[in-house]
Amino acid sequence: MNKGSVFIISGPSGSGKDTLLVKLFEKCPEIKFSISSVTRNMREGEKEGEKYNFISREKFESMIKNDELLEYNLYVDNYYGTPREPVERAVAENKDVFIEVDVNGAESIRKKLPEAISIFIMPPSFEELKRRLSSRGTETEEIITLRMAAALDEIKRAVEYDYIVVNDDLSTAVEDIISIIRGSKFSIKKQKNLIDEVLLNVKS
Ligand code: 5GP
Repeated sequence: MNKGSVFIISGPSGSGKDTLLVKLFEKCPEIKFSISSVTRNMREGEKEGEKYNFISREKFESMIKNDELLEYNLYVDNYYGTPREPVERAVAENKDVFIEVDVNGAESIRKKLPEAISIFIMPPSFEELKRRLSSRGTETEEIITLRMAAALDEIKRAVEYDYIVVNDDLSTAVEDIISIIRGSKFSIKKQKNLIDEVLLNVKS
């Protein structure tokens, strides 16, 4: 049976992964996206329930207590977390689901779901990442500096991922991700059961 796959996607702030994901979902509307819960303020242009559910710290802490999160992390002073139920539902319905998390979130999900396929979105250069972060105009200098430090730490951990996609040209990067989705169906992570089934049918 072709069970749905969990894809973990990470990339530093300014890697352009949000635009990339929007384009990917336009091309592949059958893919589910895991909407995160977050305690940071909504940025201009963001909408409740699109990429994030914006909730209070108290509500977030009660979700932690009730084990409603697959993973969570404190990032630049705010909580970000992946609600467990929508991911479990998507997989049960044989749908592919994308979870966007930082490197720590990716590490936690890999421990719980070792078959998950992880993709790191790399900016073409650190200079370009700096330029993208500053030109966004939605954050203070202080936050930009913190995000740049976080970006450097994240890039150092790109080696933990199954795939790296360089987001230089947007359409090429989207096609690269689609190739990974297709290719991953044949990976050993997804085909372990097939080997067992074939071996089971060998007449001794
Ligand atoms: P931003 O504030 O720029 O939207 O996101 C900051 C960081 O939090 C990014 O690296 C993003 O991938 C990550 N992030 C978004 N949602 C989640 C989540 O549910 N869990 C974790 N651990 N990180 C998340």
